[in-house]
Amino acid sequence: MAIFTLQHDLQQNSEQNNPFCIILGFFGYGTDGLQNYSYLLTAVYQYISVVYPNKIIWRTIKSQFCLVIVIWIVCILYSLPLLVTGQIIYNIDNQICQIPLRLSLPMVYVAAIIYIIPNSGILAVYIKLTRYVHQISSRAISNHTLFHARRELKLVQRTFILIPRILGNTDTLQICHDIENAISYESQVFYLYDPRYYDDIHHYSISSTNFSVCSVEPGTTNDLAIIVIPRILGNTDTLQICHDIENAISYESQVFYLYDPRYYNDIHHYSISSTNFSVCSVEPGTTNDLAIIMKIIGKNRVPFGIKSGGHSLNPGFSSTKDVHISMLRFSQVNYNPTDQTVDVGPGLVWNDVYKQLQPFNVSVLGGRVSNVGVGGFLLGGGYGWKSNQYGLSIDTILEYELVTPNGTIINVNNKTYPDLFFGLKGGLNNFGIVTNFKMRALPQTLVYGGVLLYDFLEINNILNAAVNFQHNNQDPKAQILCDFTSLGGSVAINIIAFYDAPIAPPNTFDIFTSIGHLGKLQTRSFLSLVQASPVVITENMRKPGVEKVRDLFIEYTLASIPYGRTLVNFDVEPFLPSYFEKSQGGAYPHSPSNPLFPIVVQFGWQSELDDQVFINATQTVAEAILEAAIQDGQDLSGSKEILYPNYALDNTPLIKMYGKNLDRLKSIRQQWDPENVMYLTGGFKF
Ligand SMILES: Cc1cc2nc3c(=O)[nH]c(=O)nc-3n(C[C@H](O)[C@H](O)[C@H](O)COP(=O)(O)OP(=O)(O)OC[C@H]3O[C@@H](n4cnc5c(N)ncnc54)[C@H](O)[C@@H]3O)c2cc1C
Repeated sequence: MAIFTLQHDLQQNSEQNNPFCIILGFFGYGTDGLQNYSYLLTAVYQYISVVYPNKIIWRTIKSQFCLVIVIWIVCILYSLPLLVTGQIIYNIDNQICQIPLRLSLPMVYVAAIIYIIPNSGILAVYIKLTRYVHQISSRAISNHTLFHARRELKLVQRTFILIPRILGNTDTLQICHDIENAISYESQVFYLYDPRYYDDIHHYSISSTNFSVCSVEPGTTNDLAIIVIPRILGNTDTLQICHDIENAISYESQVFYLYDPRYYNDIHHYSISSTNFSVCSVEPGTTNDLAIIMKIIGKNRVPFGIKSGGHSLNPGFSSTKDVHISMLRFSQVNYNPTDQTVDVGPGLVWNDVYKQLQPFNVSVLGGRVSNVGVGGFLLGGGYGWKSNQYGLSIDTILEYELVTPNGTIINVNNKTYPDLFFGLKGGLNNFGIVTNFKMRALPQTLVYGGVLLYDFLEINNILNAAVNFQHNNQDPKAQILCDFTSLGGSVAINIIAFYDAPIAPPNTFDIFTSIGHLGKLQTRSFLSLVQASPVVITENMRKPGVEKVRDLFIEYTLASIPYGRTLVNFDVEPFLPSYFEKSQGGAYPHSPSNPLFPIVVQFGWQSELDDQVFINATQTVAEAILEAAIQDGQDLSGSKEILYPNYALDNTPLIKMYGKNLDRLKSIRQQWDPENVMYLTGGFKF
């Protein structure tokens, strides 16, 4: 069809009813129907595989092949009347042969056969499958069966949504027409009936292809930037605000748009579901410029995102569709030997911080994984390798440089603004944007440690060793992280051991090295020892709790196999019971009387269809571990069960993270942000 249209164009052919063109039109109707009936066939197949899993005959290649042949025959047969009665004629505007686009019997016939019948069939399957999944959810069946049924339901739902979306999305269609009218002759818009549309949407992998309402081929940067992008993103007002920011800031700051590679670097996140395409990204280079930006944002009440290292796993916490602020240019690491402090910028990841401090033999209490960002980590709490010795990162922060929601620059410490200082220690982005953290410099020698890898069969021995370590270790310099990971069904069990001196005292980690393993513990730089990852809390590591972690890990590793390349990652992070003794207080409650420690429960998956399945799984696992801890006799009632904000899912109630501090935090926020400017950005809000 593409070749035909092109030839027609090149030859400036005005011949109206070329037989070849009519045959192409005939096949066009046949293939349209073929597509919809194959969706119907897929939906029926999915229904049978869930409701009648034992009817294998349906799944054989022979039966599937027969059904495909039947559909082909039906689709050719129903298009024949259009051909023989001469309904397919040349449409000069669209440059293809089709039946005239007006209310007529052939048009109704085509609509019914090609669209209404197969789509009604898919709808019927969808309703039946929904009812079935609803029924089995209330029955006691294996997790695997329920996972499978829900997944198939989502696939049918997606199929059902696809076709009306393309055909029925009149708002978007109007936007496509607007774009068509606005762009220059160098750019073009294509729709479903144009072969160039298929060329535009085609991807290397079919799963990456989506049927859009139209496809746009901008031919000039101007068309792309000025007209197409804001319309696609639905937001010309925000584009104007981006321009206002651009005009107001100094040369040390910059604004980037979709066509600039630096834009993609700014909006990139560790987890793809946390990335949003904003209208522009802004890289403030000075605190003054950031203050100007905050004033423009507040005045226009435009949604914005603040990103440091982009490791938040909650979608929308550090991203936006409007004005994205990347803190990248606040990349200072200044060691002050006189008062033994370090000024650290939120534009860095921990790797950079440790690297720059290494020559001075000092470090700060930061992240255990190199690419986690300074900003989010420090504003949420901060569990690090030195937490047994110095508490959380927030216990080592002495001062914050802050741009408040109304664009004022202030230095916040215990003396200048004690309430705000309290709020910033765990209160995330509720009080403004931090441009500098003044932290305690901590002495740093070489360290001892590394990663030990174990065979899955050693899982019980490792758990026993970890429980023994937790009970017997009294040395605050020794810390471990017990990591269970399965990626696409392949399981790895690791112990990451850390000792904050060049050599660990004899026997410190023998309990782990005596079990068959790969890898070795050795003297190395602090920088080279990194690894870790989100979410429940138990009081102390006891065997029943840890056994529950093991059982759940095995159960969910098996249950995730049908979902393709998935990640199941549980980390047990034992600290010394005394690790909160260094607590300096703050928004995130972490008092010595309540020394809870975090367990990371993390799932990674590929298809957005499975989002809810894995979010539910995370919650179920968290609740099951908590239940096991309570059954084991741990007192986790009421405000004692404090969840860590940096690991918590986005629907976690504030009271579960901030307990008795919540009322005070709400009143501090009200005092500093009466206009609710920080409500315009993502994250937990007081
Ligand atoms: C692989 C991995 C390993 C991890 N390991 C640990 C660990 O060992 N210990 C631990 O405690 N946590 C750990 N975490 C959790 C981590 O602390 C949080 O994900 C944290 O939010 C990451 O910070 P970020 O700057 O990279 O995130 P971002 O996504 O950039 O930001 C997170 C939040 O902070 C806000 N924010 C960022 N910068 C600023 C600023 N300057 N001013 C105001 N608000 C700001 C953002 O708006 C957003 O709401 C880990 C997470 C991952 C994914």
